[in-house]
Amino acid sequence: MEEKSEKNKEIETSNFIRNIIDDDLESGKHTKIITRFPPEPNGYLHIGHAKSICLNFGIARDYKGQCHLRFDDTNPAKEETEYVESIMEDVHWLGFDWGENLFYASDYFQQLYDYAELLIKNGKAYICELSQEEIRATRGTLTEPGTNSPYRDRSIEENLDLFRRMKAGEFEEGAYSLRAKIDMASPFICMRDPVMYRIKYVHHHRTGDEWCIYPMYDYTHCLSDSIEAITHSLCTLEFENNRPLYDWFINELPVKHKPRQIEFARLNLSYTVMSKRLLLDLVKSNVVNGWDDPRMPTIAGMRRRGYTPQSIRDFADRIGVAKANSMVDFDLLQFCVREDLNLNANRVMVVLDPLEIVIENYPEDKVEYLEAENNPENPNAGNRYIPFSKRIYIEREDFMEQAPRKWFRLSPNSEIRLKHAYYITCKEVIKDKDGNITQLICTYDPESRGGWSKDGRKVKGTSHWVCKDHAIDVDIRLYDHLFTVPDPMIVPEGKDYKYHLNPDSLNIIQSKAEPSLKEAKIGDKFQFLRQGYFSVDYDSIPEKPVFNRIVGLKDTWAKEAKK
Ligand code: ATP
Ligand code: MG
Repeated sequence: MEEKSEKNKEIETSNFIRNIIDDDLESGKHTKIITRFPPEPNGYLHIGHAKSICLNFGIARDYKGQCHLRFDDTNPAKEETEYVESIMEDVHWLGFDWGENLFYASDYFQQLYDYAELLIKNGKAYICELSQEEIRATRGTLTEPGTNSPYRDRSIEENLDLFRRMKAGEFEEGAYSLRAKIDMASPFICMRDPVMYRIKYVHHHRTGDEWCIYPMYDYTHCLSDSIEAITHSLCTLEFENNRPLYDWFINELPVKHKPRQIEFARLNLSYTVMSKRLLLDLVKSNVVNGWDDPRMPTIAGMRRRGYTPQSIRDFADRIGVAKANSMVDFDLLQFCVREDLNLNANRVMVVLDPLEIVIENYPEDKVEYLEAENNPENPNAGNRYIPFSKRIYIEREDFMEQAPRKWFRLSPNSEIRLKHAYYITCKEVIKDKDGNITQLICTYDPESRGGWSKDGRKVKGTSHWVCKDHAIDVDIRLYDHLFTVPDPMIVPEGKDYKYHLNPDSLNIIQSKAEPSLKEAKIGDKFQFLRQGYFSVDYDSIPEKPVFNRIVGLKDTWAKEAKK
């Protein structure tokens, strides 16, 4: 076997769907593979959709086929152009392209209507006058058959006439619907004369007021797949029971292409919710600041937070594709993000919670520029120069007055290294009248420039720091999970999904950053030494940079988990 050199090759990208495709190619059933990603434009895409995008576009890429982007826009009441645009942006950002294959189910409204007339003419569909509730009530249960609608045996002529008048806008909403005439006793409830069309006087974002009858999802989806010559129609498991209906429409109509529906497990991620309905609710009720709030599991939110497309694709590869539903640990996603950023994010120094140090033996007005490497993981990342002078800040948590024996950072009379700079020793602790530490007086060893002593003397700890006079003020947004429990949908009776909302999912602090960050642009990503990975937020302005914490460093994460 060839050696697997690239990191991603280690991940098994093969799956049961690819096995089916391999068989179909081998048997000659297909020569070109066509998949599709069919979002309904009623919200922003989330990480679950990313799984589906990576699967569908990934297959098209690897089999040199094509993947269509099709908007499933049959429910005009909930759909908006804003969502269409955000979806296109997100798919592109993830690194995929549909090329010329951009479609809308609404493009097929006329064809779908013609097919419906054909079914009526073939005695396979009828106009029903039962209300939605009555239809539900007569559908039966898993153990009991449904009952036939009293309108089931209308003549073909009457059905055609009524259907045309529905289309012409002669009736009120809910007065009539078109139903497929299948079998009210079928073990598959979806086969018990499902509704195909309902009357809706709603403006459609693409077809305007041209239509007042709209086709249902189950009817539209399979036929849209067929019209586009999709070979493998990949959908999530909850559609497994609808497959007989998918095949029924395809088989009852004179279609050229018969796509095969294959179901796979949807992605569930711990500490978040993934239903568009709930995500919309979080936005509408201002629990978060919009669809792209960095705490949201949306692609837009993850992009804003600083996740990279590469890390999300890597995540999709690692979770794989299977038939059984399961919950994936949020840590795995963060692991993938860290892996990517470790290689690609430059290191900088930012003191989140500053404590001032005065170096008493350092000349008052001297400023030195010390060389610092940008990324030890990347030989091409180069170096920069950071200013050093008499007054600096270190992290407040890096000093302890009464330090335990195993304390490796600063404490009275102990010596530590300042990263890229000098050894310092703490001589005196200054406090305010309430006993809070306000300043440390230290000395430095001029012979230890660069952070290495001439005599080979070792120190146990290294701290990051910034120079007080040159530091810039930055806002830091620290994020935690949106929910406090892995599965927020498990709630006590009478409570809803907001029960487990985390009140501390966002924390904003004011910090001090090294001056090189003045140049940072929105979206730039950095490792703040010892603090994690951060990206420049959209709200950032030159006078006040704003950073999002993307993810902590591995050790901080492990440490936090133990708390
Ligand atoms: P929701 O129920 O949250 O509204 P949806 O499935 O109705 O989601 P669509 O816009 O219809 O949203 O989804 C587009 C495609 O993405 C579908 O093929 C669907 O199967 C897939 N998809 C949606 N959610 C997930 C998920 N959590 N994991 C994997 N695929 C998903
Ligand atoms: Mg859907």
